[in-house]
Amino acid sequence: MQSLGNDSERAIQKDQQYLWHNITPYNEKNPPMIAVEASGSWVTDIDGNKFLDGMSGLWCVNVGYGRKELAEAAYNQLLSLPYFPLTQSHMPAIALAEKLNEWLEGDYVIFFSNSGSEANEAAFKIARQYQQQIGQHYRHKFIARYRGYHGSSLGALSATGQAQRKYKYEPLSGGFLHVAPPDSYRRPAGMTVEEFNLQSAQAIEDTIVWEGVETVAAVIIEPVITGGGVIVPHQVYLDRVQEICRKHGVLLIIDEVICGFGRSGRKFGHQNFGVKPDIITMAKGLTSAYLPLSATAVRKDIYEAFKDNSDDYGHFRHVNTFGGNPAACALALRNLEILEQENLVERADILGKKLTAGFAELLNHKLVGDIRSFGLVIGIELVADKVTKQPADLAVVKGIIAECKAKGLIIGKNGDTVAGFNNVLTLAPPLSSTDADIQFILDTVTAVLNGSWAE
Ligand code: PMP
Repeated sequence: MQSLGNDSERAIQKDQQYLWHNITPYNEKNPPMIAVEASGSWVTDIDGNKFLDGMSGLWCVNVGYGRKELAEAAYNQLLSLPYFPLTQSHMPAIALAEKLNEWLEGDYVIFFSNSGSEANEAAFKIARQYQQQIGQHYRHKFIARYRGYHGSSLGALSATGQAQRKYKYEPLSGGFLHVAPPDSYRRPAGMTVEEFNLQSAQAIEDTIVWEGVETVAAVIIEPVITGGGVIVPHQVYLDRVQEICRKHGVLLIIDEVICGFGRSGRKFGHQNFGVKPDIITMAKGLTSAYLPLSATAVRKDIYEAFKDNSDDYGHFRHVNTFGGNPAACALALRNLEILEQENLVERADILGKKLTAGFAELLNHKLVGDIRSFGLVIGIELVADKVTKQPADLAVVKGIIAECKAKGLIIGKNGDTVAGFNNVLTLAPPLSSTDADIQFILDTVTAVLNGSWAE
């Protein structure tokens, strides 16, 4: 245990005095959970209470907590070569880039950074510069979706389609446009899911055409909108988006920051749909969040446009001091080995199906409008009225989350959006969760919803 000892009041007081948290405003009456250790899917707080982490931190601890092999991989690398910049090279980065190519089942070149936001920033700059280098000088715009999330830095936030995260920081970067996602649960009456998904994809083509085809550089989408409420597209949506991008010379950037590394039940989320992105961004599960590392994978022939350029400005003029740190790369390689050796990609699919089947009964609950899943990502959409689909009040959503926590289960909810769409409970436990862990999740969520929330 740390120097603060087990005096939780003192720790909370110091926390309140010195620490600025991500997003959530805490106070001494509503303090943050102070974690001290974790193993498997379970985290222990400073008072010795244990919680099943049904969100894998922020959708990221894919292989679970307490993996000594990961600590050793980083430790050994720190002893031999703790740092060398990727303005030149080192063996862990080379080995990891090769391994990622195998996972991606394509011909990609890898640019390393530290976070999902940075991986997306690099993708945007590469897309714009690539279009310029092939003579498409006006192609600077990006099309993203409402409810999508792509990060907190100004460019990545500009691509994000969740208004409440953006209000206080505007104006953001220019050139980012948004269209509605294929939220099939809320499709117009009389329309099939397939028709609605085709219509949603058409919004992307219409925007490209209205904006001027020659001004659009790329489309960025998550394979499935995760943090924005688990919005799972129909196969026709991804097929059509890819077709539209190819038809109009627009690059397709797929944000795999959450969906990657087995979370979707395949190695990468887009592989479920058979699409071939031009650029793929990844972070979180790459190291299972044991150390910061992210990557931007770029189709080889796009990379070629940055080589052998007689103009000195033809190179990708982007430096990331810490990106591709050797210890983080060595750890990531070991993390991928664990995912392979323990068949955790397949396990994500199996566990996701178990949870979905186990929750099916809840569709009869008066608050549950829809249950959606993608691999080991589950979204339970809560509504105040099943006919109008009016989202449940935030107080209800927060109350359910708090009751689960009181019973030892951490679950999440979708991020900031407008129009009251804070109503999707989310679950994304570690891929290494045991059958007993999954049963605990099912029992706890079911007991909470069927308790005081059933009346
Ligand atoms: N893209 C997606 C889909 C994400 O979920 C996130 C983080 N939640 C990011 C990008 C940004 O990653 P980071 O917080 O590491 O910058």
